[in-house]
Amino acid sequence: MLVRFKEILDQIQKIDRDIEDLRRLRARVPENRTFTDGLLISFDKQINELLNRKISLEELEIEKPSAELVQELFSVDVATSTRIRADRITIPGVAPTAEEEKVVAFLREMPKTEIHLHMEACISRETLCGMLDKNNVPYEPAEIEKLYKFSNLQEFIKLFLFIIDSVKTADDFELIFKNLREYLESNSVYYAEVFLAPSRMVQNGLDFNEIASILDHLSTQCRRDGGPEVKYLFDVSRTFGVENASKNLQRILNARASNIIGIGLGGAELMGPAREFKDVFAQAHAEGLRAVAHAGEDDGPWSVRDAVEILGAERIGHGTSAIQDPSLIELLRTREVPIEICLTSNLFTGKYVREPQDHPVRRYYDEGLICTINTDDPEIFNVTLTDEYFKFYRHLGFSISELIDLNRQGVYSTFHPDPASLWKKAGAQITKLRDKYKL
Ligand SMILES: [Zn+2]
Repeated sequence: MLVRFKEILDQIQKIDRDIEDLRRLRARVPENRTFTDGLLISFDKQINELLNRKISLEELEIEKPSAELVQELFSVDVATSTRIRADRITIPGVAPTAEEEKVVAFLREMPKTEIHLHMEACISRETLCGMLDKNNVPYEPAEIEKLYKFSNLQEFIKLFLFIIDSVKTADDFELIFKNLREYLESNSVYYAEVFLAPSRMVQNGLDFNEIASILDHLSTQCRRDGGPEVKYLFDVSRTFGVENASKNLQRILNARASNIIGIGLGGAELMGPAREFKDVFAQAHAEGLRAVAHAGEDDGPWSVRDAVEILGAERIGHGTSAIQDPSLIELLRTREVPIEICLTSNLFTGKYVREPQDHPVRRYYDEGLICTINTDDPEIFNVTLTDEYFKFYRHLGFSISELIDLNRQGVYSTFHPDPASLWKKAGAQITKLRDKYKL
């Protein structure tokens, strides 16, 4: 078998990165927990499989590479390869063939819900610069471009905080909500649960009650105008510690805005272990708020388990590392905890998923987990919900019927008081659309 040197080296480098990630995670497995031994065995098994694959690659007969190629390949340092990982995602994009256009048109028109969407990430670059101008914040356009070229989760969070810092007055939300509504309507999203992270905004001097009141009003007004139904989940945030999270919860409770229906736990996952937020979540549950958590995006499967078992999270955002722990998959299935899948986002952060076809959602769905399709940060990743559905179709082999089923799971994973009525209406429209497009 003759294989090109570069292809082999690329594959070996990818395996090396995966092994490095797994070893780093293995070192973080908490000690003396019921799942510790099982998880260590699972990691060792995965590492051994990769090592065996690497050995078999090294044994392949290869063409003799040119000296220049060798030079080029070995000059790629770790930082560069990390950057390639993030940049690369923009290259394949979503360019449907003529036949696939029909599928995309169907997916665009299909009524949908979205439940993992950050309002700050629905701020277009133009709106961002507009807000900076309006609020007299000096900036260099090149610096903004540089910020958008993040290569890891920490840098991404830096960008996110920059966007939040650009919100200076509560009336900026009228502009932000306009962006959000346009995004939702252009993707036929009729119901959305949207995250907003208020910590930094409050630190910047914005009045929490004013934000809550404006958002509450904008949501009600949008619904009255025949627009999508928008509910909010306020992010109590891991990044700023437990005390701040607790303060955010008190603010939400005091604001009494009916469209703010619950809390989320976002921010830097490695900095704020779920267990630290136990009391905050317990109080939120006791007060009748809904509660979700980002988990297993940047940390291992124990982070997902803790979010479910300790925090009582009703949904998990991302959950990509859950694939490493079969007993956790079983727990998520039996407890029927929906996973908010954000495929493109996971590719960008490049932590557990490097190719769309490698995303664990295919296995999650086949193994009976409740999965929903979401964008996370549409303006930052230049992605739409329609794109995300199409990526499932193209890269992960989801049929039209399966995509409709995922849509249905998305409806039943919302916190809407009567999801059956939502699905009855949407399901009937989808059947008509399917006829229209003969799919
Ligand atoms: Zn998110």
